[in-house]
Amino acid sequence: MVQTHIQELAGVTEEAAERVWEMFMPWAVEALTLAVEGRDEREDEIEKREQARRVPLAVFGLLSALPVDLRSIAVGAGAFDRQIYDHEAEQWVGETGWACDWVESLIALKSTLPDGLTFETAEQIAEVLENHAAELDDLNRVCTTCGLRIPRRRLPPLSEWRIIGWTDETSPHGVNKPIYDTGPQFFEACPHCGGERLGFEMHMLERGYPWRAAAAQALDLRRVQLPK
Ligand SMILES: [Zn+2]
Repeated sequence: MVQTHIQELAGVTEEAAERVWEMFMPWAVEALTLAVEGRDEREDEIEKREQARRVPLAVFGLLSALPVDLRSIAVGAGAFDRQIYDHEAEQWVGETGWACDWVESLIALKSTLPDGLTFETAEQIAEVLENHAAELDDLNRVCTTCGLRIPRRRLPPLSEWRIIGWTDETSPHGVNKPIYDTGPQFFEACPHCGGERLGFEMHMLERGYPWRAAAAQALDLRRVQLPK
């Protein structure tokens, strides 16, 4: 039986659970309404509805992956806050927190929580998201091997990059390409599987990475056999 009652997780109070769902509610309703209204369903509307359906298991999965202390921080502070569009004022209001952002990545199948993800690894990532927000690049990376989403430190301006060597690769002009030192990263490789091929999150939809099918199945409430 698939579990989606986040208030039953240690570290999540009933009030916190309610608050988390409230954050996703307007958006889920909008996505579902769109889908219902669409006479001839457009592809993006179908996609929005699919994503809305994945929210409960994605939120539950993310919270379950976090150790208890970080879990209560995530539900207690602004990590699940979501920026919403105020139609009257015609502007976006509020900020989207790191946990909400992560959930959105999961439901879009741009990343996944790989099987066997340990509390330690989830904690390393959540700790960076919680405490180093100002240093992070907007463009997350994803391990192309296992699908784990990995935050990345924003690179310094180009003028500050130091050349520390040369690759064997040559540019179209016939010169070797430089290797730059752009400062330390939070993660040089995937902290879960050790994979070194980290792709841009936004490019994950373009290729059929094997973990994406499993991710879709893991978040599909319809696979659940309800007890008779
Ligand atoms: Zn990995």
